[in-house]
Amino acid sequence: MATENVPVKKNDMIDIMFEDLTHDGAGVGKIAGFPVFVQRALPGETGTVKITKVKKNYAFGRLLELTKESPDRVEAPCPIFKQCGGCQLQHLSYDGQLKHKQKHVRDVLARIGGLQEVTVHPTLGMNDPWRYRNKAQVPIGEEEGGLIAGFYAERTHRIIDMNECAIQHEENDRVVQLVKKIAKNYGIGGYDDKTHKGTLRHVVTRYGYQTGELMVVLVTKGKELPNKKNLVQDIRAQLPNVKSIVQNINPKRTNVIFGEKTEVLWGEEVIHDYIGDIQFAISARSFYQVNPVQTEVLYNKALEYAGLTGKETVIDAYCGIGTISLFLAQKAMRVYGVEIVPEAISDAKKNARLNGIGNVEFAVGEAEKVIPWWHAQGIRADVIVVDPPRKGCDEALLETIVSMKPERVVYVSCNPATLARDLKYLTAHGFEAKEVQPVDMFPHTGHVECVVLMSRMVSN
Ligand code: SAH
Repeated sequence: MATENVPVKKNDMIDIMFEDLTHDGAGVGKIAGFPVFVQRALPGETGTVKITKVKKNYAFGRLLELTKESPDRVEAPCPIFKQCGGCQLQHLSYDGQLKHKQKHVRDVLARIGGLQEVTVHPTLGMNDPWRYRNKAQVPIGEEEGGLIAGFYAERTHRIIDMNECAIQHEENDRVVQLVKKIAKNYGIGGYDDKTHKGTLRHVVTRYGYQTGELMVVLVTKGKELPNKKNLVQDIRAQLPNVKSIVQNINPKRTNVIFGEKTEVLWGEEVIHDYIGDIQFAISARSFYQVNPVQTEVLYNKALEYAGLTGKETVIDAYCGIGTISLFLAQKAMRVYGVEIVPEAISDAKKNARLNGIGNVEFAVGEAEKVIPWWHAQGIRADVIVVDPPRKGCDEALLETIVSMKPERVVYVSCNPATLARDLKYLTAHGFEAKEVQPVDMFPHTGHVECVVLMSRMVSN
């Protein structure tokens, strides 16, 4: 229904000019100030759009024809780009993507964080931005003819069978195809999330770029996995570099991939990889950055911003398997890491030993509870590094950071919106945002990672 404030209605055909790009890669055009979001349209382009959905304050449309193309538009190399929701920006040149991510960070920090003045550097990108992922997590379903493994069609839960992915390491593609074939041979059924029936929910593979080690995780609905022994034997025979085959059981009706229980079917509980000179043991459920090349760029930037001389006490909140902590420990006096997933902390401790690093201590728990407790025990930090999940830092943690008075805070963020919110809090409580470095961890997707340096103002 078109009203005075809503100038479009469903099925309208309109000509529109695109001015901007959202965080998930949709072009934004305006009709009398009313925003219309259109997938795969770029700023500077004009086109004809059919309105598909109208909300109170915005609408969605489908691009029918482009009447003016952006000079940054390229042909998306992946044949399934339009069906798959995995990448959003393949139609934008890589240089255009890096510029867009820098602008997006700058805009969000200004709009949500009130940080108009802060320097946002050009995004650090990859020389070769393809085949970068070290982890594949592929939903398994069934079609007539048996098991399929692929991707969810954009904005749906319909699985489309797929053989390769342009941002996935070739080895992971190969493993997924192989496991699919082997499972199919043994008549193992795929899972149906509508009926909550079936056996195999996901195949997850992890590949150590530096070591060549492989992990295969079979995520099943129940404990039952028919022909388990044969399955393992065939995987081992056909993948000589596999080091770990595990089963994870997820009985819940959820789109979270992993369940609580993991059992080793064969081999080790972990695989290993290196970032820089540091070796990491990684288990199935532990967080480990998916782009190992850019991870080194990211961590080196975090290390640079930490400005360590060897005398500092550092806290690494949200430390995962201790990746950043161990990077920092090389240059700090002492590092404390905290993380909520127990397996990750057990990996972190293993990793410290593996690398002969003795000046780190790890604790399991919520950062917003453990760090105030450390503070109450008299622990003070000169530098605090935070690397929270997408929802950002809990306010209790931000309060503790303020009262601990570190010289510097290094904020590593995968979500500019919550980053902006948290920086707003810290700048209102005696810290100054010095510089922001976007790093492209996820080329061709809308995601952007940032490292931010904050300093405590002298008067505080
Ligand atoms: N710094 C690590 C991990 C970053 S991802 C790396 O670069 O590899 C964020 C991590 O925060 C995840 O490992 C997640 O398990 C953990 N996490 C989530 N909520 C948390 C909380 N409230 N307290 C501590 N850790 C948390």
